[in-house]
Amino acid sequence: MRSDVLVLGAGMVGISTALHLLERGRSVTLVDRGLPAGETSFGNSGLIQSEAVIPYTFPRNVGVLLSAALGRRIDARLRWASLPAIAPWLLAYARASSPEAVRRTALANVPLIARARAEHERLMDRAGARHLLREGGYLRVNRSALALEEAAAVAARVRDEFGIAFDAWDADRLRAEEPHLSPALAGAIHMPEPARVEDPGDVGTAYARLFEGEGGTLVRGDATTLSQPDGSWSVETEQGTAAAREVVVALGPWSGDLLRRLGVSVPLGVKRGYHRHFRAAGNATLGRFVVDDDHGLVLTPNKRGIRLTTGAEFATRDAPPTVRQIDAAEGVARGLFPLADRLEPRAWLGARPCLPDMLPAVGPVPGRPGLWANFGHHHLGFTLGPTTGRLLAERMTDGEPFTDPAPYELARFGGSGGGGRTYHRAPRNG
Ligand SMILES: Cc1cc2nc3c(=O)[nH]c(=O)nc-3n(C[C@H](O)[C@H](O)[C@H](O)COP(=O)(O)OP(=O)(O)OC[C@H]3O[C@@H](n4cnc5c(N)ncnc54)[C@H](O)[C@@H]3O)c2cc1C
Repeated sequence: MRSDVLVLGAGMVGISTALHLLERGRSVTLVDRGLPAGETSFGNSGLIQSEAVIPYTFPRNVGVLLSAALGRRIDARLRWASLPAIAPWLLAYARASSPEAVRRTALANVPLIARARAEHERLMDRAGARHLLREGGYLRVNRSALALEEAAAVAARVRDEFGIAFDAWDADRLRAEEPHLSPALAGAIHMPEPARVEDPGDVGTAYARLFEGEGGTLVRGDATTLSQPDGSWSVETEQGTAAAREVVVALGPWSGDLLRRLGVSVPLGVKRGYHRHFRAAGNATLGRFVVDDDHGLVLTPNKRGIRLTTGAEFATRDAPPTVRQIDAAEGVARGLFPLADRLEPRAWLGARPCLPDMLPAVGPVPGRPGLWANFGHHHLGFTLGPTTGRLLAERMTDGEPFTDPAPYELARFGGSGGGGRTYHRAPRNG
């Protein structure tokens, strides 16, 4: 089996990259060991975060750090047994969370975020999946007037500098819009521009079908068999050996494993996150994606029920799951919205693939001609998959990249500089 490009990994990032390459006239084989959009791109919260220029930073407040270390938080939790293995990545992440570095990341996010929604809508239209999109923006709710005021002040700074719209809703407006949320809430910051989807896995599956329908080849295979025996790259699949001149590594949180085998070391860590579904109690309804800003959890309507997702668990990718973070989130969520019984016996666990500066790697793998990277989309891989898929395909096909690709080069780590204002945000939703 021969094609121009092998794309390894059929998550939102790999599928989107494969589609953009196909559109630019390349023959593409998309390889995954499982179902398309069956991993991180299945279990996320499904928000197209077209407002998210400010990255989720490493907690810099000592109180937050301590409570995260002691396992007392829902938005951030450390698994102590993983600490020796993840300490170097955590340190790099902490360094990249300085005000100067955060501003650099925010500026680099702007061109990607600005296109994110339009790129999805374009693919949704082609894939016949537009019906999965839900308008109405999303809400960040607070219990105290003070917390709400602080959240509004941060949102106003971001609006003034980056043009991201928001509305501040008082308790009455919130009750009118979402009558079944807790009456104890002081109000919410409403972000009107982002959209949610009914089920992120369904969106990925629709894009994978589009890829096959437009002539792409989707096969099951193990990316770790990648080799370069005679100048071209090849990988073993259920349909035999697949070979190509060029390869894209889009393995999400598994990308570092493959690159390590090829002698390339990347500072890819993970922030794990859980989800669990519930029936809504009685006649309760939830119309929007809701971030509990005080506790760092998300409740969102999903085709399976109300999906509850947690913030970041700092642990090695493959450490056994624990229920403490999702159970604690469930306790808080039950006070936020009337949830009935759980809809499945076990919580889902996934891993956000994170580079220390919270920007993806989109470009050539240095020193490995023909090998390209598209991974490390952290909290925003569902949002950004179609956009970085375009950017990489433009680079690989000598098209004019829609933005300067320099901030997303894999070779970028180790730089410093910048300056400006602070917009720290805890590692909460997404
Ligand atoms: C709880 C949670 C909530 C989130 N919410 C949001 C959100 O609301 N909005 C948003 O934009 N982002 C969100 N994210 C982040 C987003 O889900 C990820 O950034 C995104 O899914 C990463 O996509 P990907 O394609 O890079 O990786 P993946 O979806 O993980 O795809 C990688 C693929 O590689 C395959 N693979 C791995 N190893 C091999 C191998 N050896 N051989 C072959 N195939 C292999 C896997 O099977 C998988 O299909 C959330 C993440 C979590 C955990």
